[in-house]
Amino acid sequence: MQKNSEYRLKRCPFCGGQARILSTWDGLYKAECKCCTCGTASYTTQIAVARRWNQRADSYLAKWIPCEEHLPENENPCLVICRTWSMAENAWKEGKLMILRYLPKEHRWNISGMTDVTHWMPMPEMPEKKGEIT
Ligand SMILES: [Zn+2]
Repeated sequence: MQKNSEYRLKRCPFCGGQARILSTWDGLYKAECKCCTCGTASYTTQIAVARRWNQRADSYLAKWIPCEEHLPENENPCLVICRTWSMAENAWKEGKLMILRYLPKEHRWNISGMTDVTHWMPMPEMPEKKGEIT
């Protein structure tokens, strides 16, 4: 018997949303974020899916840099997680993923309005264009 805790999925590394395990049309399983729907490939067992998802959550989460610890030193675009103010709900909404630039000279991100960037990481490398790979 597998322990239940092994099936527990960590929060989505991209948006912080809750994840779930789905069964696919071909009898396999995959994990998917309920919020942004990013997911894993399909696996034959739920435990394999849970392990894969949690492994990825760990590897991505490790790269998020809390703004209170460190801010970018240049104006290169960054992947950021921010909270935004919702006028309708009169509350901060968590976990929005955006691409922003930090402006070190002005000590702010290049966005206006009620946003609060909590974490950031450098943008991943872009894929190479077809035909340019040597
Ligand atoms: Zn997500």
